[in-house]
Amino acid sequence: MANKEKLADQIRANAEMAKRGEQKRKGGKTGLPKSASSNAYVAPHRHCTVCQCPISLKRDPPICGETKCEEEYASRERQRKRWNILLYVAPGIMVGAFALQIVMGG
Ligand SMILES: [Zn+2]
Repeated sequence: MANKEKLADQIRANAEMAKRGEQKRKGGKTGLPKSASSNAYVAPHRHCTVCQCPISLKRDPPICGETKCEEEYASRERQRKRWNILLYVAPGIMVGAFALQIVMGG
């Protein structure tokens, strides 16, 4: 059966190709070059959480420094804190109501 041999050859070739593909992918998860000399090199950075423009990695808070972004970030932080409080308070109230019910009922 020559057909079987052909198939085996094909499988071997496919396995070989897969191996080579893996080696290529090992360079980086994003596929972007890691050396600064490359044209497509992108330096490590993060983005302003408001307007998404690139900023320094160490920037804290992660905003670009524009007044508009600062205000937006501050209001978001306030909202986040409010939500955090609510997340703790709501179950607390529920547990309290449950306990009260047991105390009143029993
Ligand atoms: Zn910004």
